[in-house]
Amino acid sequence: MGHVIGIDLGTTNSCVAYLEGKEGRVIHNLEGMSTTPSVVSFTRSSEELIGNLALRQAITNPENTVFAVKRLMGKKFNSESVQEISQKIPYRLTGALNGDVMIDLSSKLISPQEISAMIIKYLKKCAESYFGEKVEETIITVPAHFNDHQRQATKDAAKIAGLRVLRVINEPTSACLAYGLNEKKSGNIAVYDIGGGTFDISILEVSEGVFNVLATNGDTFLGGEDFDARIVDWLIDRFQKKQKVDISEDKFALQRIKEAAEKAKKELSFTLETEINLPFITSYGSESKHLKETLSRRDFEELTKDLVQKTIPYIEEALSECGLNPENIDEVLLVGGQGRMPLIKKMTSDYFKKDSVENLNPDEVVAVGAAIQSGILEGEMKDLILLLDVTPLSLGIETENDTFSPIIPKNTTIPTKITTSFTTVENNQRRVRIHVLQGENPKASLNTSLAVFDLVGIESAPAGVPQIDVHFEIDGDGIVRVSAVDSATQRKQGVKVNPSSGLKQKEINKIIKREQAQNARVSEYEE
Ligand code: AMP
Repeated sequence: MGHVIGIDLGTTNSCVAYLEGKEGRVIHNLEGMSTTPSVVSFTRSSEELIGNLALRQAITNPENTVFAVKRLMGKKFNSESVQEISQKIPYRLTGALNGDVMIDLSSKLISPQEISAMIIKYLKKCAESYFGEKVEETIITVPAHFNDHQRQATKDAAKIAGLRVLRVINEPTSACLAYGLNEKKSGNIAVYDIGGGTFDISILEVSEGVFNVLATNGDTFLGGEDFDARIVDWLIDRFQKKQKVDISEDKFALQRIKEAAEKAKKELSFTLETEINLPFITSYGSESKHLKETLSRRDFEELTKDLVQKTIPYIEEALSECGLNPENIDEVLLVGGQGRMPLIKKMTSDYFKKDSVENLNPDEVVAVGAAIQSGILEGEMKDLILLLDVTPLSLGIETENDTFSPIIPKNTTIPTKITTSFTTVENNQRRVRIHVLQGENPKASLNTSLAVFDLVGIESAPAGVPQIDVHFEIDGDGIVRVSAVDSATQRKQGVKVNPSSGLKQKEINKIIKREQAQNARVSEYEE
């Protein structure tokens, strides 16, 4: 059996690990680093650069350098969140025919799945070069609150990269798996996961090898980038006041400021004060302007304390959903690079009245957990550990007056299935339309539309007589399936699926074929 790799496809950085015995080990990238920036850049000569090489292009080639693509996975162009992102990034976004967001590069339109596939392919290549053999299978992680579209898009990205996905696993669960195995602990664990773009809180109960996710909650739009943005705004404001020049529209200057802001933020996790020095940031007439500021940890905390506070209601909600108090939590795991911020450590230790676990590497722990999951699925740990995860979002249907009627409530243990009966409302009605949604809003239109199902070919009968059983199922990856059966005849009803999002299998196959042809051309050239 070949190696299975665990992939943490992060908003800012990605990481790949494998299982050696019972230990998850990180595979370093081709430059010898344990994580790879989740950045892809396209040069003028259409060369694709991944990771650090791409990051270095970000300043000189901002319109063709794609970062934080994870925030776009499985999203619609017109959604509020994508519209908000498009204001903040230097590359352009547009909508596909089905409304999915696409990235509009100088040379081509490309989907977020394809960009993610390039990052995954690079990690696969690092693993193959480490093992000296092909790698074909993966366990890939996603934020716990990813919906069906986002999970499916992640799976499709791995498929395009040439990997078979054995399991999609939630990031906090993965982190807990890595921690729990090393420490052999039991009790209630809170995983506070704050990476570059997303925040998740998960409450798990661990006991004698059984990992039970009790509740999970979070915000897809809260992460390290928001902390960077506060420093960026502060710098722009200071520059405006001191130099009387507005640099907020200068993309080139903004990119430099953004990088300096992140660097300053990281430094402030370890020092009490840092200097931000950007000479020749812009010019005004013939005069060159320089940016030089000192930022203290105290001022930085003042600028960002509301972001840290914003995470508390999510924790409270998750705890109340599983009937626990902060005192019932035995261990707190901080996951994700932003968790290194002292204010976050202080807030969690004040809230839970205990310090977080210190001996975890927040950048690697998710990938390591994914590698361990491969052992649970196939290997020697199969009988040692049982992982019970939950669905982070309610699954339901649209009923009258734009009402959302949940069928599988959030935090139900997965895999799960449920059957609900539908009937007709008019005499001789031959077709019933079912709109499947995911989310928590009582208004149907404010949840994510997963698909519209037309149950067709219903036999003519008076209203209310036909009974069609619709099976809703969420598999271990958190991915939704729906099927329907006419209960009287046990005949499978015709189900016409119009998925509201994502790449069609045909499109994925086309991309894979194109990739294979390109690879063949490259290896011919290399020979
Ligand atoms: P991840 O997605 O887990 O790789 O987390 C990346 C985020 O963590 C980025 O926003 C980084 O700027 C942030 N980060 C990394 N190291 C630190 C640090 N020492 N202090 C504060 N934030 C950090």
